[in-house]
Amino acid sequence: MPLPAPRKKLSTPESVYLVEVIKGMFLTMSHVIKNIFDQDRFRTIEYPDMRKPMAARYRGAHRLTTRPDGKVKCVACMCCPTICPANCITIIAGEAADDPAEKFPVEFDIDMLRCIFCGFCVEACPKDAIRMDTKIYEINAYTRQDMVHNKSYMINLMDGVKPQAEDVYRSHPEQAPAGYTFDEKPVV
Ligand code: SF4
Ligand code: SF4
Repeated sequence: MPLPAPRKKLSTPESVYLVEVIKGMFLTMSHVIKNIFDQDRFRTIEYPDMRKPMAARYRGAHRLTTRPDGKVKCVACMCCPTICPANCITIIAGEAADDPAEKFPVEFDIDMLRCIFCGFCVEACPKDAIRMDTKIYEINAYTRQDMVHNKSYMINLMDGVKPQAEDVYRSHPEQAPAGYTFDEKPVV
């Protein structure tokens, strides 16, 4: 049986409400006046020309790293889809033509609508093949299908396919997090 919630007994000025309304308006106006005369208090930035610097360990959109010869580092070991708690990684493995012992991902998809950005895939990878260091937080699309990031997209993510954080950091290095390093242009 539901219990009645205790209600605070209002004093006479509170029960009129007018005093409380005036107190609320006073608080609002005090913030307006402070912000007019002390604009450094503003927490807003001129997005998208300016971007909020994210913490060095911020987990942005995933990217796939490549070797110096341009091939993906991923060896399709299946560690990341196995550990992924959201079950949002799909990999189809294939054998390299020049070395049947070598595997690679023919397809590598991450459904970003299901990803919970736990970073387990990055932790589990024995090849440093997947990273979440892009600082990209605008992960959006017009269709659900476009929210599935594929291999090509994740290899080229930092290279202008969806120029976001890195492009801005190149033109505004002062906004890049401390110690941020830019990758060489990946070869597909
Ligand atoms: S961040 Fe977590 S949920 Fe997202 S793909 Fe990686 S393991 Fe899966
Ligand atoms: S990204 Fe890493 S953990 Fe995932 S399949 Fe490739 S090599 Fe394995």
